[in-house]
Amino acid sequence: TAQFYRMAEGIMTKAFIKGSWVEGSGGTFPVTDPATGEEIAKVADCTVQDVNTAIEAASVATETWRLKSVKERAAVLLKVREELLKDKERIATLLTRENGKPLGESMGEVGFAASFFEWFAEEARRQYGETIPSAVPTKRMITIRQPVGVAALITPWNFPIGMIGRKVSAALAAGCTCIIKPAEDTPLTALAFVRACERAGVPAGVVNVVPCSRARVQEVGAALCDSPKVQILSFTGSTGVGQWLYSRCGSTMKKISMELGGNAPFIVFPTAKLDQAIPGAMASKFRNTGQTCVTANRIFVHESIHDAFVSGLEAAMTKELKMGRGLEAGVTQGPIINQRQYDRLDKMVKESVAAGATVVRGGMSCGGLFYPPTLLTGVKPNMPIAQQEIFGPVAAILKFKTEEEVIRLANTTDRGLAGYFYSNDLGQVWRVAEALEVGMVGVNEPMVSTCEAPFGGFKLSGFGKEGSKHGLDEYSNLKYICFGI
Ligand code: ADP
Repeated sequence: TAQFYRMAEGIMTKAFIKGSWVEGSGGTFPVTDPATGEEIAKVADCTVQDVNTAIEAASVATETWRLKSVKERAAVLLKVREELLKDKERIATLLTRENGKPLGESMGEVGFAASFFEWFAEEARRQYGETIPSAVPTKRMITIRQPVGVAALITPWNFPIGMIGRKVSAALAAGCTCIIKPAEDTPLTALAFVRACERAGVPAGVVNVVPCSRARVQEVGAALCDSPKVQILSFTGSTGVGQWLYSRCGSTMKKISMELGGNAPFIVFPTAKLDQAIPGAMASKFRNTGQTCVTANRIFVHESIHDAFVSGLEAAMTKELKMGRGLEAGVTQGPIINQRQYDRLDKMVKESVAAGATVVRGGMSCGGLFYPPTLLTGVKPNMPIAQQEIFGPVAAILKFKTEEEVIRLANTTDRGLAGYFYSNDLGQVWRVAEALEVGMVGVNEPMVSTCEAPFGGFKLSGFGKEGSKHGLDEYSNLKYICFGI
């Protein structure tokens, strides 16, 4: 607690609009620690009126920010990175308090957010145009990239600073200004992030944050979508909300970037090395207590190695996973974020067990928002646990016989974010990597997300790329200029 009080001194709870910390016109809403149910702080509850003020501020700021040289913008981005790293431990502690994830993961996430500021500071300086050979002697043709304008960024609770960092860095590097609408479960981390931007000297109005309560999120979301002054909406969250936002943006014809839910297959072929596949499954499944959109959702194991894989995974779960408060040393599994998510998970497991899945381990609620690491075998493709995003510490094992069968099963879903497989058959590696209908493939590797590579999905998992050189293009328009000579 001493550590917490030290941290609480600098905790930001107000909205940040046009370079000032302001009250929300809707009063406040509470933020709680999912591990204890304890209230951490009351945060500004912003209304449509506040959002409109933020849009206006971002719109005015864009006029000067877009005209800065890329080198000047890059210098500010590098300063943000420095401020985030300077304050890493404090931000991570706050993140763990409101999200529940183990402190080590929170520290990693702050580093992840910071890495994007370095990456996009570098990339901004290389946003080249083209010269296009003309078909006629009297014309010369070129293309340039220009900032889109004001970006609305709506972000989730599972990576409260990672997702914000990934979006804001790209937006600012491209010359856009932004309004962040953080998740209601984790606004404190977002505010701490913005405080770091403020200290780094990001000009007033370039980064604004408007937290709001769940009760107000729809009208606030609608205001961002309906405003003609907002030129791009970038959203990370559930597919249902993404679909709603996407349709709502039709009337203003915004650019859109959507990172939505996944249902990742994780396939273990007969030639897989179990001493790679089991740690891979552990890392993919249990990071953030299974609450990631790229987590291994359906673990397909070939019948010839099924039993060995299951017993190895069970042993690893027993040995390595420790449930508890994220601030406690040695804890690897925090709580589920909130009651709504908890009930959804609990119901999904119960229904799948009723439909015939076998509980090898876990499967019972164990107090508060803690759900035990669970292993289910005999899972069938039509069970809820295989059809929906689990978003919890439940490993669901499905048995398969042939490559053809497993590819068909893996692709039988309307989601297409990430997919993983373990194989040492070279031909199979090519075939399967190409056949999986997902935006990101991990071959003998569970951790694919990094600033240098394009993150994004297919199908109902959305579109648009974050990170990599492509991430910068989302926030810019390609303009063609034709010269008559
Ligand atoms: P989850 O179901 O995991 O909480 P959501 O998709 O609901 O995921 O949340 C992701 C983000 O979307 C959060 O910032 C949340 O406040 C926001 N959100 C939820 N509903 C809406 C909505 N109707 N309009 C705009 N934003 C929304």
